[in-house]
Amino acid sequence: MAMLSAAGIACADPCDLDVPRFEPTLATVATSHPRSTRVPRTIEVELAGFATRAEAAKCFGRRYHELRRAEYITAIVQVGEGWGYLTPGKGGRNVRKVATAPLFEAYRAAGFRLFALAHTHPYGTPHFSDVDLAAMLKAGSGEFYMTNWRNETWRMDATMVSDQLEARAWRANERGVRRLARHLGFEGERVE
Ligand SMILES: [Zn+2]
Repeated sequence: MAMLSAAGIACADPCDLDVPRFEPTLATVATSHPRSTRVPRTIEVELAGFATRAEAAKCFGRRYHELRRAEYITAIVQVGEGWGYLTPGKGGRNVRKVATAPLFEAYRAAGFRLFALAHTHPYGTPHFSDVDLAAMLKAGSGEFYMTNWRNETWRMDATMVSDQLEARAWRANERGVRRLARHLGFEGERVE
């Protein structure tokens, strides 16, 4: 809940670091295997009251980037006039290509419209990976956020990816995004 000061300006930081985080014991039985993507049994808005989607993504990253054994993934949703993020899912331990489809299906089945996606990079690259870029191009719209283990949050959208490819006359295909990710380390833009 955003609290209002006497002047009527929102002043409380909605990014509460003390709210309990999602952990594997809270996953569905079907996804309880350590290597599978854990889907939360109960899907709720974990925190809300953010003025922008970027702020919601940044808060999720602040809360989950220190968990270094697996990636965490969430979706940004609209809550009233502002933004929030959902109970995150968790990738398999040390898994680099996380299967996100079951998690997003569960989010939609719970009645949420997903406006943007956010995830952590606890290992591997501190930038967007070729898998991220390929997923973004495939989605064709929306936004993608990533917070690395240094607690830096980065944003990209499909236009940023296709513009970079076009500038280098590289094709918007798997090979193109691999070149972009591996040879340049695609960062997108930093969320301050
Ligand atoms: Zn990634």
